[in-house]
Amino acid sequence: MGRKEIDYFIRNEREAELAALADGLAERFKERAPIHDAEGSFPFENFEELKQSGYLKLTTPKEYGGEEISLYEMLLAQERIARGDGSTALAVGWHMGLMLNLRITRPWPEELFAKFCRDVVENGAMINSFASEPVTGSPTRGGKPATTAERTDSGWVITGRKTYSSLSPILDQFIVSASIAGEDKVAEFLIRKSDRVHIEETWNTLGMRATGSHDIILDHAEVPANAFIREFIPGKSKGDSRGNGWLLHIPACYLGIAVAARDFALNFVRSYRPNSLQKPIAELPHIQEKIGQMEAELKTARTLMYAVAARWDDNPGERGDLADELGLVKYTATNSAISIVDKAMRVVGGASLYRTYPLERMFRDVRAGLHNPPMDDAVIRNLALSALNEKK
Ligand SMILES: Cc1cc2nc3c(=O)[nH]c(=O)nc-3n(C[C@H](O)[C@H](O)[C@H](O)COP(=O)(O)OP(=O)(O)OC[C@H]3O[C@@H](n4cnc5c(N)ncnc54)[C@H](O)[C@@H]3O)c2cc1C
Repeated sequence: MGRKEIDYFIRNEREAELAALADGLAERFKERAPIHDAEGSFPFENFEELKQSGYLKLTTPKEYGGEEISLYEMLLAQERIARGDGSTALAVGWHMGLMLNLRITRPWPEELFAKFCRDVVENGAMINSFASEPVTGSPTRGGKPATTAERTDSGWVITGRKTYSSLSPILDQFIVSASIAGEDKVAEFLIRKSDRVHIEETWNTLGMRATGSHDIILDHAEVPANAFIREFIPGKSKGDSRGNGWLLHIPACYLGIAVAARDFALNFVRSYRPNSLQKPIAELPHIQEKIGQMEAELKTARTLMYAVAARWDDNPGERGDLADELGLVKYTATNSAISIVDKAMRVVGGASLYRTYPLERMFRDVRAGLHNPPMDDAVIRNLALSALNEKK
């Protein structure tokens, strides 16, 4: 699985080319990752390179000039970007995945979507959705946004605060959820940065420090009527689940970090020979046992992720019914990634604690996976309910 080995999950020449593109980018991101992690700064150079390489338009529909890659292909590329830098992978993953989701579900007025897609293709525009708030917590729990949208003669006025707004330093426009004043409904709006939109640099966290996931404050931000995307009733309206595969960019990211930790540990144990031994520590039984356990976890999680992605790609009619499988991929990947990085650190020993090595950053980064959707308790509960509701 190291860069010189053939990846079992690359199935054809097109995927090999995509993997090579992502590997090339990741090689450079890897050099910058410790700096942005230490500073908590946003890696603008990485995003310039993603743009120049054409990466940002890969999931955009062909009819608007994009490459329209499949979910499987997106994961192959995203996992590789994460081997270089988890933060960059997670941040660009929101854009890549959302474009794939929008391509499939088409919730936007077509004219607005077509215009945005052209902006992605021609100018490297990106998108993300800001739905988390201090009051509602994770939007997956069905809470009503405290952010409000009030109708005006020319459109809407939006007021509120969004937390965890990944990519906020670089985005010109983004999707925001807001409760429609005086109604039960929640709507989504495409909002452009303006002097009524402020970023408060709150993202000083343990892990994923270079995702720029600051707070966005909307201070009576005026938006035109055509910025309205769609409306729904939280906890009641059934969303369009046909596009939900996009969220697999999250497990792809954390598995990419796990692969990098595993590769680092392998290189280390092959070359480290303390003077108490006549051979490198790779030959010790307790080291091999941990390496074997890491392999078992990694291969299981990757096999599950790519199998579910292939099934999702190949069976469009089934996509809305794969919620349990998609949740299980995320649950397995994030928990395995935490375990794999932990074992990588155990085999490397005390040296793994040094900031001169990447393992301690990976240890912190994979921890964030627990707080990306869907959360573990929701996955497990849904699996239980599916089992209990099976017809006898
Ligand atoms: C690196 C990173 C990037 C992110 N990027 C984005 C982004 O770009 N856009 C965005 O909108 N969000 C983003 N998020 C936010 C993410 O989707 C969550 O909203 C956020 O992590 C808070 O999740 P939580 O489970 O801690 O929140 P909370 O919902 O506040 O939960 C806190 C605790 O209470 C429990 N809890 C709360 N409500 C319930 C309930 N109804 N039922 C059961 N248990 C409950 C939870 O299990 C948890 O233990 C990002 C998060 C991270 C870590």
